[in-house]
Amino acid sequence: MKNLEPFKERIYVTRPVFPTIEEVTEKLKDIWLSKWLTNNGPQHTMLEHELKNFLKVPCLSLFNNGTIALIVACQSLRLSGEVITTPFTFAATPHVLSWNNIKPIFCDVDAETMNIDAEKIESMITPNTTAILAVHVFGTPCDVEKIQQVADRYGLHVVYDAAHAFGVEINGQGIGNFGDISMFSFHATKLYHTVEGGALTMKNEYVKQRIDLLKNFGIKNEEEVVMPGINGKLDEVRAAIGRIMLNYVDEERQKRFHLHKIYNEELSGVAGIKLMPKCADDVKLNNQYYVIRIDEKIFGRSRDFVYDAFKNYNVYTRKYFHPLCSEFTCYRQLNSANPANLHTANLIGKQILSLPMYGELTEDDVRKICAILKMFRR
Ligand SMILES: *Cc1c(COP(=O)(O)O)cnc(C)c1O
Repeated sequence: MKNLEPFKERIYVTRPVFPTIEEVTEKLKDIWLSKWLTNNGPQHTMLEHELKNFLKVPCLSLFNNGTIALIVACQSLRLSGEVITTPFTFAATPHVLSWNNIKPIFCDVDAETMNIDAEKIESMITPNTTAILAVHVFGTPCDVEKIQQVADRYGLHVVYDAAHAFGVEINGQGIGNFGDISMFSFHATKLYHTVEGGALTMKNEYVKQRIDLLKNFGIKNEEEVVMPGINGKLDEVRAAIGRIMLNYVDEERQKRFHLHKIYNEELSGVAGIKLMPKCADDVKLNNQYYVIRIDEKIFGRSRDFVYDAFKNYNVYTRKYFHPLCSEFTCYRQLNSANPANLHTANLIGKQILSLPMYGELTEDDVRKICAILKMFRR
């Protein structure tokens, strides 16, 4: 019954959500009428307000992308010296530290959540440590309580890279409420996007003021430039698209939620395949990604074999996050990048595979992807 012919068209790991062209043209007309293209225009103001409510956070500042946002977050807290972070993340996370002249200190990850191992952070702290930069990988929340406890004990700041965690909540609280500052990315491949874009969320207006200055060259007024800022502004066109996309995010999340269930149904109990981590009942996830871990010893095939073999069926999976950041040529000479220090991260890096996940994917597509995967077993 199962048709295991290759897919007719390539199936990629994700596809951006597109609004209708009519909606975009309609909004563009408003912008053309306003004659305001960038620098805190009406679309920007309205999107900041709408996102603040959507993410259930006290304050939010929009950016032209998530990476610049995170660079500014470090600047605003005046981080320096060493910052403890995870090697199991996108390149931007440690790069942001390098751009701030900060030495990334890689801490191993938790075997279940794949997030920074909160129990190990303390052992990495030195007199030079100023902060913890943690990532909610694949939208699974970090152990926010334990991380805050360690930070409080040593007087450290906590910054979260929440690029994967748009709309994630813990016990009804938006994920952006934890730590000093959280960064969201609105890149086209994320669950919610503004084509390119991002945001920081913070606890109060005082911190937001400083961040807003930093993202606009430090310009306070026509007479005063008060700090060496950068250009981190989101323009009116992308802010307008972001406002439209807010109407799509719940439906997209629902579709992905359904596909998650199908994946779990098809793959649970398959020997050698570990599914996404289970979260506490009070965690609301966003289902942005679907990742599995392949244990070669049990499955009979390596992750790399599966990745290559899938291509013969026109399925283009991704090895997020392999190589680990600690394996990059720019970081591997660091003491903390030594694989002996990062046992779990190195293991996960060899096993992880991101499977196709986007709203337009059908239930049949997912069942077929799973059937192909199971066929690879040895
Ligand atoms: C996408 C992403 C970023 C970078 O966001 P941009 O908006 O593309 O600059 C940073 N960290 C993680 C974990 C990401 O997935």
